[in-house]
Amino acid sequence: MLKNDQLDAWDRENFFHPSTHLAEFARGNLPQRIITGGSGCHIEDRDGNRLLDAFAGLYCVNVGYGRPEIAEAIAAQAKELAYYHAYVGHGTEASITLAKMILDRAPDNMSKVYYGLSGSDANETNIKLVWYYNNILGRPEKKKIISRWRGYHGSGLMTGSLTGLGLFHRKFDLPLSQVVHTEAPYYFRRDNLDQTEEQFVAHCVAELEALIAREGADTIAAFIGEPALGTGGLVPPPEGYWTAIQAVLDRHDILLIADEVVTGFGRLGSMFGSDHCGIRPDIITIAKGLTSAYAPLSGSILSDKVWKILEQGTDENGAIGHGWTYSAHPIGAAAGVANLKLLDDLKLVQNAADTGAYFKQALMDAVGDHPNVGEVRGEGLLCAVEFVEDRTDRVYFDPAQTVGAKINAALLNRKIISRAMPEGDILGFAPPFCLSREEADEIAGKLKEAVAEVL
Ligand code: PLP
Repeated sequence: MLKNDQLDAWDRENFFHPSTHLAEFARGNLPQRIITGGSGCHIEDRDGNRLLDAFAGLYCVNVGYGRPEIAEAIAAQAKELAYYHAYVGHGTEASITLAKMILDRAPDNMSKVYYGLSGSDANETNIKLVWYYNNILGRPEKKKIISRWRGYHGSGLMTGSLTGLGLFHRKFDLPLSQVVHTEAPYYFRRDNLDQTEEQFVAHCVAELEALIAREGADTIAAFIGEPALGTGGLVPPPEGYWTAIQAVLDRHDILLIADEVVTGFGRLGSMFGSDHCGIRPDIITIAKGLTSAYAPLSGSILSDKVWKILEQGTDENGAIGHGWTYSAHPIGAAAGVANLKLLDDLKLVQNAADTGAYFKQALMDAVGDHPNVGEVRGEGLLCAVEFVEDRTDRVYFDPAQTVGAKINAALLNRKIISRAMPEGDILGFAPPFCLSREEADEIAGKLKEAVAEVL
C-alpha cells in the first residue's frame, strides 16, 4: 500500500482528472478523494469515511456497489476469454446474449444493437449512421442535427457540439456547424411565467417549427434528446411534450434519437424512458445502466426502419466502415448480462419507481416550503431541488454565489453525496435503485440541515 502523501503527490503530478479545475487541483485547493470501496448505496474513502452516494457515481451504478454476481461474471469471462473482436461477424456468447436481452426490453420497433464503450462514442456512432442513412437514401443535404439547449450528449467533437451547455463548448471551438440547438423543455425556467404547461409545450413546438423552417427540413437529419433532461438540470418533460415534438419530426421526416444513457434500464421507474414518456425513437443510445458501470459498455439500438437502409447500404458499398476495437468487449458484455439479470431478479426497476416516489415526497417534506426552494422535481430515482433567491418573483441567485455548490458541500460534510449540476443552483439526486426508504429519509433529513446551514 502506498502512503497517503505519496499517492497525493503522484495524483497531482501525473493524473489529468476529467471535468476538473486543473489549476486549483494542482495548487492543492481541491480535495483529493481516493475511493477505496463500495457496498449497496455507500462508498468508502481511504480515511474510513462511509458516504451515502445519492448520485450513484455519475448516475450509473444503478444496481448499487459491491454486487458479487457481476464481479464473478466479469472474472469468469476474463479467465475464459478476456477479448476477441466483433468485426466481420465475430461474437461471444455474452455479447450475443446481451443483444437479445436488450432488444427483449427495448421499445417494440427496435431491431439491432451496435456496441460501443461510452455514451459519447455511442452518440458519435448514431450521428454517423444517420448521415450514412441519408446518403444511402440519396439525400446528401439532409445532415444537420437538432439538439436542445441544456441537453447533454457527451464530450466528443460531435457529441460535445450536441451538448447544449456552455461549459462544454467554451474554448473548444464547439459547437460544430452541423448542429443547431432549440429550446429546452424546462417549464420551471420558462421566460414567461404566465404560461401554463400546455402553452409552454406549444411554445417549444413553435420554436422547433421555426428552426426547421429557417434551416430547411431537407437539411435536417435528426433530433436528439434525453427523455428527461439529465446534466442540464434533471428535468422531467412537461406533459404532452414528446408527443407534440414527435409529430413535428414525423411530418418533416426527421429521425428521432432518444439519448437514454441516463434513463435506459430503469432510472425513471420504467425500463426505458422512451416507453415512460411515450417516445417512438428511431435510435436509442444506452450506456451507464447497461452494466451499472461495472465495466464500460454502451450501445446504439436501431429501429428496423434504420437497419433496413444500413443493410441496403452495404449491398451497394461493401462492409460498413465503422468499428471500435472494443465494440462488444466480452467483459463488458458479461457484466451487462449479469447486471440485467440482477435488475430483474431484485425487481430494481420497480423499486426505482416506488422508492423514487417516496424519495421525492421526502425531499418535498424536508425543503419544499423553504423560501429559497423554487422547485422539487423528479421522476423515478432522478430528482432535483432547484434553489432561487426569490421564489415569488422567480429571481435566480447570482452564479458567483455558488449556492448549489455550497449546499452540495454542506451535504458532503454530512456524508451524503449529491451533485451540483453545472448550470443553475440545482442539486441532483440519482441514487442506486436499491435505495431504501430509511436511506431516502436520511438524505432528505440531511438536506434540510444543509440548506439551513447555507441559506
Ligand atoms: N448522454 C447522456 C444523456 C449522458 O448523461 C452522458 C453522460 O453523462 C453521455 C451521453 C455521455 O456518456 P459518457 O460520459 O459515457 O461518454
